[in-house]
Amino acid sequence: MRASFRCPVLGGDVSDGPQRITPEIAAIAAEAARHVAWLREAGVREVPHRAVAPPQAPDRAPPAERAVAGAVAAPTHPARATPALHATGGRAYALDDKGCGSPEMLAVREELGECSRCKLAPGRTTLVFGVGNPRAELVFVGEGPGADEDAQGEPFVGRAGQLLTRMIEAMGYRREEVYIANVVKCRPPGNRNPEPDEIEACEPFLRAQLAAIGPKVIVALGKFAAQTLLRDTTPITRLRGRWSEYEGVKLMPTFHPAYLLRSPEEKKKAWDDLQLVMVALGRKRPPKGEGGQP
Ligand code: URA
Repeated sequence: MRASFRCPVLGGDVSDGPQRITPEIAAIAAEAARHVAWLREAGVREVPHRAVAPPQAPDRAPPAERAVAGAVAAPTHPARATPALHATGGRAYALDDKGCGSPEMLAVREELGECSRCKLAPGRTTLVFGVGNPRAELVFVGEGPGADEDAQGEPFVGRAGQLLTRMIEAMGYRREEVYIANVVKCRPPGNRNPEPDEIEACEPFLRAQLAAIGPKVIVALGKFAAQTLLRDTTPITRLRGRWSEYEGVKLMPTFHPAYLLRSPEEKKKAWDDLQLVMVALGRKRPPKGEGGQP
């Protein structure tokens, strides 16, 4: 006699016949193992446990919710329910929260929770997670939120942010098409530079975000983004304008927009760097006289 049981991942019935492990199940298991490996590599040591939704027809649950369950769900275990709430400070996050947008990114957001891992936490108004397309081909990484970002909960919305938005648009993208994040997610007091222990605490989440996006190109804005991602202390003046590689992804270091506001004569160099990025992404350079350097 053949028994059948409900597959917790696919939701369909799986027969307990001679071929118990189908190619689909093997592929799902391999994908799950890869997912755990990148989480581990990104420094994520635990993911919040969620109650598995009661059995229902698989096509009744929205696809994103099913995927989130696949990404972060673990077998329900009453003894584990409480730590999960601690991890997120009891707060639930949603796909339409700023910068979340994909099940993988939502899992990173949940893992980050109402973070108090470093000394920046008590001084923040808002944790600035990220913004934009969670499957973007192009990602910009800055340093950390300033006063405007801290107030609005979105990276690069102040004066430097307005310049970054013009740079993005000059490259032929809309701001919503790219993803924007920072090395640290909470505002350093008085806009001071982030300190090594703060970067160390926050960096795994940036790495996990980048892994979740899987971009074609990363643009590192300024010294902190470039040096952190590349683990290289070479000054930004020497790193900029040359392709580097981050976890197999092309990375272009360039000047930070806040520096460009202070030193507008350097904008031409940053624009040269961004044009290299456009070529790598198969984007046309704007015709002479139209668009161009922001
Ligand atoms: N500068 C940064 O590096 N990031 C922001 O989000 C804003 C200003």
